[in-house]
Amino acid sequence: MKVSLVVAAAGESRRFGEAKITCEILGRPLIFYTLLPFVRTGRIDEIIVATRKELFRNVRKAKAYLGNIPMKIVEGGCHREESVKKGLEKARGDIILVHDGARPNVSEALINRILDLLETKEAVVPAINPVETTLKEGSSGIERIHREQVLLVQTPQGFRREILEKAFEMAGERLSEFSDESTLLIEILGVIPDFIEGDRENLKITYRSDIEIFKNYMMGEVRSGFGYDLHRLEEGRKLYLGGELIETTYGAVAHSDGDTLLHSIIDAMLGASCLGDIGKLFPDTSLEFKGISSLYLLDRTNKLLEENGFWVLNIDSTVLLEKPLISPYIDKMKGNISGVLGIPTDRISIKGKRGEGIGAVGERKAIVAMTNVMVARAEAKYII
Ligand code: MG
Repeated sequence: MKVSLVVAAAGESRRFGEAKITCEILGRPLIFYTLLPFVRTGRIDEIIVATRKELFRNVRKAKAYLGNIPMKIVEGGCHREESVKKGLEKARGDIILVHDGARPNVSEALINRILDLLETKEAVVPAINPVETTLKEGSSGIERIHREQVLLVQTPQGFRREILEKAFEMAGERLSEFSDESTLLIEILGVIPDFIEGDRENLKITYRSDIEIFKNYMMGEVRSGFGYDLHRLEEGRKLYLGGELIETTYGAVAHSDGDTLLHSIIDAMLGASCLGDIGKLFPDTSLEFKGISSLYLLDRTNKLLEENGFWVLNIDSTVLLEKPLISPYIDKMKGNISGVLGIPTDRISIKGKRGEGIGAVGERKAIVAMTNVMVARAEAKYII
């Protein structure tokens, strides 16, 4: 049985003020946190995100953090159920899970329970009772309802494909009346799903303050790291900086490609995460690293950080080089680093400084780079 996850993420977020699903938390968009628990169960075969055209790029960015899971991004509709319908049309699963794009705190346990039950049931929907006193406007004014009689319906909602397709087909023009699939099944097909106990922590981010509540669940922390590197310069050698070959006759003396800037970034990353230093990780006695591109070493370092629950938030580097000016290369360097680390270039800063003709830098005997990085560390459950 194939399982497709259809995510409704085309809402306008009017009560929130900006697009919720791409709002960043610890440097990653909200939709990343929404999708991650599903990926972590290992039981989802594909993800279909129905969202607005202008958010495609940002959703794709989130995908980069989610490993190799197949993912389609489709344009959503003007109301929720139209978006789900469009997602469903692209889904190939026998089982369809429908989830809100702005529910980032769903537990793997809830997803697993729903999928287990779908082996015998055709529709499984999580819900909770309200904790507040519950009233409704009735014909004779305000009436009290017993809390136990009220269900607050959550997602993910799980269905056998046929029943969901049938409900969407038969709803026709009435589709826009519905704000979730469970009510669609009840009112259109007369089918009552199996309601199971939902999860109070399965927040739906609606107001800005909800983000703060979610952050409290995350227990993330931010750390800083510092890196420094120096290489001797010699005439007739090549000079690599930030993965770019610099046009000059003075190059770095090194075991690897001698990319001083990347070495300082690597050391700063390792420092922030307390995972050692570049010399320990990539010893210059090892043949494996002789002449190697430091972009490869940066990639290895980044993977090590990710395995330990860290990711880079931003980088600020200064390169001390007498000649030539590095400014013409900076955009390309940022592009190289961004490509490896998967962070946008507006989180990478590289600055050039000269040595004013004095000292090792000024006399063109050395190149120096210094870097400060910030990394985020999230709880284990936020690591793929
Ligand atoms: Mg070095």
